[in-house]
Amino acid sequence: MDNLFTAFRDPKLAAVLTEKLSMYKGNTINIMEVCGTHTMSISRYGIRSLLPEGINLISGPGCPVCVTPLYFINSAIELLENKDVIIATFGDLMKVPGSHSSLLKEKAKGKDIRIVYSPMDSLKIASNNKDKRVVFLSVGFETTTPIAALTILKAHEEKIDNFSVLSANKTIPNALKILAMDKDVGVHGYLYPGHVSAIIGTKLYEELASQYGIPGVVAGFEPLDILHGILTLVEIINDDSKKVVNEYKRVVSEEGNTEAVRVADKVFSACDSVWRGIGNLPLSGLSIREEFETFDAWKIYNLKPYTAEETPGCKCGEILKGRLKPTDCKLFGKSCIPENPVGACMVSSEGTCAAYYRFREV
Ligand code: SF4
Ligand code: SF4
Repeated sequence: MDNLFTAFRDPKLAAVLTEKLSMYKGNTINIMEVCGTHTMSISRYGIRSLLPEGINLISGPGCPVCVTPLYFINSAIELLENKDVIIATFGDLMKVPGSHSSLLKEKAKGKDIRIVYSPMDSLKIASNNKDKRVVFLSVGFETTTPIAALTILKAHEEKIDNFSVLSANKTIPNALKILAMDKDVGVHGYLYPGHVSAIIGTKLYEELASQYGIPGVVAGFEPLDILHGILTLVEIINDDSKKVVNEYKRVVSEEGNTEAVRVADKVFSACDSVWRGIGNLPLSGLSIREEFETFDAWKIYNLKPYTAEETPGCKCGEILKGRLKPTDCKLFGKSCIPENPVGACMVSSEGTCAAYYRFREV
C-alpha cells in the first residue's frame, strides 16, 4: 500500500507536471476544487504555490460540515430540551457554532450527546437504551447518504421505534449547476470529487459540461492526481472543449455505484436545501420519504427550519462560492481559529479556512 501512495507522490513526476503548468501564459483560469478533501490535499502539499499566476484554484462547497446550516445545529440543540433525547453525531459537528451554542458546549453542560463513527452505531445506542429516544444527526453528500439510508431500512425492519434521523443530507450536482450559473463566481472548470463520483459516476457531470459549458476532471487526492487533473483541465479549457475526463478510474466508473444510489433513493427524495453561507438551492437536499416518516426527526419533533443570522464578519458564504479566500476574512487566524471556530469553514479539518490555517497558506 505504501508503495502505491509513494508512486502518487513521486517528486520527479510532480516536477515534470509543475514545469508543464508553469508554461501557462493565457487568461486567468478559475478552477473550482469542489471537495473538501481536495482542498486539504492542495493546502497540505502546497499545490497553490506551484501554479503560475494565471491558474487560480478556488475552493467549492464540498465539505458537508461547512455547508450545514446554522438552523440545523440550533434544531439539534432544541431537541436536547427533551430530557429523554440522546443525540448521536459525527464528531465533526461538535464544534460547529449554532446561533447561541454548539453541541460541544451543550455536552459540557451535561446533555447526552454521543459521538458515533457510523449511523449504524446510533441504532445500537437506540437498541441499548429503550427508555430513551435517539436522534442521529445526518449530514453528508452522496458518499454518506447510502449508509444513512441503510440504517433507516434496518430500523424499519427491526421495528426500532426509539430511533430517528435529523437529515441535512445534500447532493452535489445541483449545487454545482447553481454555481455554474453564477457569473460572479466565474468557474471555468471543475475538479470533481473522487468520493462523491465513486457513488454517482460521471454521467451527471456531462450535463453540466454540455448545458453550462463548464468542463471538468474527476481526480483522486494524491498530489500527482491533483496536479495531473489541473493540467488536463487547463488543456481542455484552452481547447475550448466542454468534456469531462475521468482521471480517477481506479475508483470511479461512468455509472458509479448503482446499488448505493438505489438504496439512497429508496429512503430519501430530493428537496430544496439551505447551504450555509450560500442559501437555499432548489432540489439540492434530501428528505426522508413519507414511507419512512416515523424515522424523520423533523416531523416527529415538529421542528421548523428557520433562517438565522450568520455571525457578523464571517465570510464563509463568500468563501464557499469561491469569491473570497480565507485570508480575506478579517477574523481569520484572529478570533477564528480551529480551536475556537467562528464560522463553519474553520471547524472541520477539510473546511477551506481550517486547511488554509493549518498549512498557513497566504
Ligand atoms: S471534514 Fe468531515 S465532513 Fe468535511 S469533507 Fe471531511 S470528512 Fe467530510
Ligand atoms: S475565517 Fe472563520 S469567520 Fe472567517 S470566513 Fe473562515 S470560518 Fe468564517
